[in-house]
Amino acid sequence: MAESAQHDLEKALWPADHPSPSRIITCRSCGRKNRVRVSVAALYPEKYRCGSCDHLLFLGVDEPLTGIVSSAYEHELDRKSLATLKAVPGFPALVKWVIANVGERTLRIQQMSSSIRCNDSQFPELLRLLDLARQRLDIHDTPVLYLSESPRMNAATAGVENAAIIVWSAILDQLDDGELVSIFAHELGHLHANHLLYKTMARLVVEGTGLLGGYVRFLTIPLRKALLLWDRCSELTADRAALLGSRSLEASLTTFLKLAGGNRPGIARRTTLRLEPFIEQARELAEIEASSWLDNALATLMTLDLTHPYIVWRLMHLLEWVEQGNYLDIMAGNYARSLDD
Ligand SMILES: [Zn+2]
Ligand SMILES: [Zn+2]
Repeated sequence: MAESAQHDLEKALWPADHPSPSRIITCRSCGRKNRVRVSVAALYPEKYRCGSCDHLLFLGVDEPLTGIVSSAYEHELDRKSLATLKAVPGFPALVKWVIANVGERTLRIQQMSSSIRCNDSQFPELLRLLDLARQRLDIHDTPVLYLSESPRMNAATAGVENAAIIVWSAILDQLDDGELVSIFAHELGHLHANHLLYKTMARLVVEGTGLLGGYVRFLTIPLRKALLLWDRCSELTADRAALLGSRSLEASLTTFLKLAGGNRPGIARRTTLRLEPFIEQARELAEIEASSWLDNALATLMTLDLTHPYIVWRLMHLLEWVEQGNYLDIMAGNYARSLDD
């Protein structure tokens, strides 16, 4: 990105009346604590070197997050809503039923019979963007990639044990390559955090594909609500993976902007959608989000909207993570690793 565009983004995120906070970041090489401005660290990480050993403070753009575990970036609402879901009566029985009756094979046949499977001889260009995200997140699983025709901008991860990533064609029209890497990293985040089975269950419930058959009558309202609430909250974890994999805050934010409003010719002909007011909107949302909001209004709302859930809400949570959470610590190489690495 050109320096001037980067500067515009910095002004949009941290205008004069909302200056960037500072953070203390530990040097992974010598352990010295360095004070950084979040704005500079998030947008120009290469500018920071350790004040003591002169080592680069943050990982380079293609340096993998070696051995990172998903709990290092898991959102607490994801963790909490999953614990709630697991405690709802009937949930273990539903899990068992889905594994036994829907299974991998049905889902795989469903994809194979209606989408294009990408590999080295079919759309390798798309596969390369997925691989880029995979390498940066240090994910060793190789999900099968499918392309499916649709005017709806979306992507999904399906499967029970083996993952398939499906991208809908509209997304290729409306997003650039950097944003596609962010989409792939988001889907890989779901895979990494073991969301596969539950995401599949949520989709079966939402889409009512018929695959649930007679089981639908066992889906009580509390079970349905808890499943869909977790489904939404799991997005917050995947959005963090998207940022870690795209290595571009701009790509993450413009992806949200385009998912929320579209990036169609009819818009471009009339205007240029701007990030600044969109970010203002997210900050306003953060102010009105009372602590009880999630429990009450949101829990109900979340069971209604099915396609593009709460993009601004998600953006708000991602920004919060960048400013106050452990995003910069992870990018400085300070994160929980799996024991194998
Ligand atoms: Zn150092
Ligand atoms: Zn997702």
